[in-house]
Amino acid sequence: THFGFRDVPVEQKKKLVGEVFSSVAAKYDLMNDLMSLGVHRVWKRYFVGTSGVKRGDRVLDLAGGTGDIAVLLHERVGDTGEVIIGDINAAMLNVGRDRLTDRGLVRGLRYVQLNAEALPFPDASFDLVTIAFGLRNVTDKQAGLNEMRRILKPGGRALVLEFSQVKPEWFRPIYDFHSFKVLPKLGQLFANDAGSYQYLAESIRKHPPQEELQAMMATAGFARCSHRNLSGGIVAIHSGYSV
Ligand code: SAM
Repeated sequence: THFGFRDVPVEQKKKLVGEVFSSVAAKYDLMNDLMSLGVHRVWKRYFVGTSGVKRGDRVLDLAGGTGDIAVLLHERVGDTGEVIIGDINAAMLNVGRDRLTDRGLVRGLRYVQLNAEALPFPDASFDLVTIAFGLRNVTDKQAGLNEMRRILKPGGRALVLEFSQVKPEWFRPIYDFHSFKVLPKLGQLFANDAGSYQYLAESIRKHPPQEELQAMMATAGFARCSHRNLSGGIVAIHSGYSV
């Protein structure tokens, strides 16, 4: 279809998602700033700020990509803690590792190529698991959430930062115009790639809205599930605890 992968079989979709991120990896950070006018930095800082993460904690950042969340987490857990960046795409992990290493960040950081649907870690081994702008791309989201709960220690927390459903009615047409008209143009102009940004807009519309995602977290066995909208629901933070 015009906007991407609706009718594609799952295996092929996984491959396509991989290609999307390989093709945008180098331009990824510039595009984030352009598309969100820099606001993604504020969302990410707020996200990690509310996490309650402490020095010495062991944290997994799923779909960690180019390392934005990991840098913020690393500031808080310190050298005695550990931040593991997990991503399915080697190109994104490489960009992330180069960026962090160039900033002198080496100790307490690890990079693991993985699929969020089947995590290569034992049960109850992390204090916090985060996934920012990543769950939307995971094919079997319920499997991803189940895995996030499995690897958390009792009392550990999962936090999801993701595009969500815009709540104010008046804002929706403006948001749709930005998503379907402006984004692909920006993608074409700055990354020579309109398709990946059409996919972005489409995948946001298909992602479960706030209440539905919260219910999926409860199904995964999380306790005290909650969510909070940022910027009118352009993004939402979902939270749940392992018991
Ligand atoms: N968390 C980073 C951020 O906030 O800037 C990167 C987000 S980027 C939009 C989405 C990332 O999800 C990509 O790096 C992609 O490779 C990764 N991804 C997609 N599907 C995945 C999966 N099944 N398991 C792990 N990572 C996945």
